[in-house]
Amino acid sequence: MIRCPKIKYCKKDFKPFNDYLNKIKSDYSSIYILADTHTLDLCVSSLLVDVDAIKDAEIFEVNPGELSKDIEIATGLWLSLSETGADRSSLLINVGGGVVTDLGGWVASTFKRGIDFIHVPTSLLGMVDAAIGGKTGIDLEGVKNLVGTFKMPKAIFAFPRFLDTLPEKEWLSGFAELFKHALIADPELWDHLETSGMGGLTLNPEWIERASRIKEKVVDSDFKESGKRKVLNYGHTLGHAIESVSFYMDDEPMTHGNAIAIGMKLANRIAVKKGILPLSVSKKLENFIDRYYKTPLWLEDQNKDILNLVKKDKKNLDGIIKMVFLKNIGETLIDVDTTGDEIIAVLR
Ligand code: NAD
Repeated sequence: MIRCPKIKYCKKDFKPFNDYLNKIKSDYSSIYILADTHTLDLCVSSLLVDVDAIKDAEIFEVNPGELSKDIEIATGLWLSLSETGADRSSLLINVGGGVVTDLGGWVASTFKRGIDFIHVPTSLLGMVDAAIGGKTGIDLEGVKNLVGTFKMPKAIFAFPRFLDTLPEKEWLSGFAELFKHALIADPELWDHLETSGMGGLTLNPEWIERASRIKEKVVDSDFKESGKRKVLNYGHTLGHAIESVSFYMDDEPMTHGNAIAIGMKLANRIAVKKGILPLSVSKKLENFIDRYYKTPLWLEDQNKDILNLVKKDKKNLDGIIKMVFLKNIGETLIDVDTTGDEIIAVLR
């Protein structure tokens, strides 16, 4: 059974990371770091001061944002690895949000048939979700994560201090995946979140860690997503489609978490119509989501594009749209057949 490495939260300093790297360093011929422009400036720069194990690492930088999860960017990284002499014993350390960890994980898992990689998630979304579980990937032709691999990182280190510089909209983005974990598996955590709200920098660090542990547990039960892991896709069928459409509809594309929050709200509406979720729970969640996240005005106008993207979702089977629904807080149903008409109806 492939197990998910537990995120090591280092609240005090970088020492545990340095100690770990110094311990494993002799297993590797060279160390590389991948970051985006923001995380290079805000996170890698401070790691370089205190973590002597990475002082000689070659650093690769990509532009921040989803557009970097792209085949041309990946090709550039493979070529840079090759040109700088990387071999099968090289190690890649991905320092950034979900874009850097998805992209870096994919590049590492395919270069020379796979080299080891370590994730250092720097966004809230990365810490509670993207860095955990070994899914790597890039987007293709506007479809999210169309190409990718399942490959576990060697280790995951998180430094909550990095969150101090995270912009508010990115806090909100991560918060959506955090409360999604609570909704699918931890009613007590949901109660805390519902009462205290998002809170940004004041968000209780214990809840961040608790949400990470939920994901680790789900992934450990079903690494390749043949069953239980599908619960993590709650909100993602419509969310991913909306995120993709936002790239050409909005001047500033919606964050991943914002799209997932809207995806959860719409999935709940379908679940109510199907008699799966009580209306009162859906309404309560809708109020919570509307407090923090914008629902785009173009949903109805773009319903055909959204439905076309939903039809390409990886979870579908034999051309039938399969969705995850909440039955109640902490209870889910996976693989529920859903029709195009049911989807179009909630986009009105
Ligand atoms: P992101 O990586 O684009 O980061 C968001 C923004 O925050 C970027 O501008 C980044 O530079 C900046 N940033 C990151 N850390 C920072 C810090 N400490 N201080 C200041 N700025 C910082 O986006 P994200 O929300 O972290 O991740 C979204 C991606 O994750 C999507 O591509 C999504 O598909 C993917 N994802 C993957 C999984 C998985 O299981 N592999 C799960 C969920 C989401």
